[in-house]
Amino acid sequence: MCPRCIAALEPLTLMTGQSGLYCGRCSGIWLSLRDLDDICARLAPGGASEEAIEAPCGNDTLLLCPLCKTTMWRRTRAGVAIDECGRHGVWLDRGELQCLLIELAK
Ligand SMILES: [Zn+2]
Ligand SMILES: [Zn+2]
Repeated sequence: MCPRCIAALEPLTLMTGQSGLYCGRCSGIWLSLRDLDDICARLAPGGASEEAIEAPCGNDTLLLCPLCKTTMWRRTRAGVAIDECGRHGVWLDRGELQCLLIELAK
């Protein structure tokens, strides 16, 4: 289920070949950590430039991992803030995947 709007997710194949889950309502995308690492490794072999992990802060809507229901943390990869469950995967809001791909490919 979508962590943002609780709609059912549909399977999606990314242009980079990984498969994720897509929410037709909010256009968010769920990716496993392995797939995200795959994408980063392929597009930025030297590693993404900036990486920072932040505790979720009060003003943001906290997202829960759709698998384990724990609060997801926000990790910045290549300048894009991504909600991440350290055990399962990441949630990319609408447009964030494109931003990430563009930043990684720089
Ligand atoms: Zn959604
Ligand atoms: Zn999880």
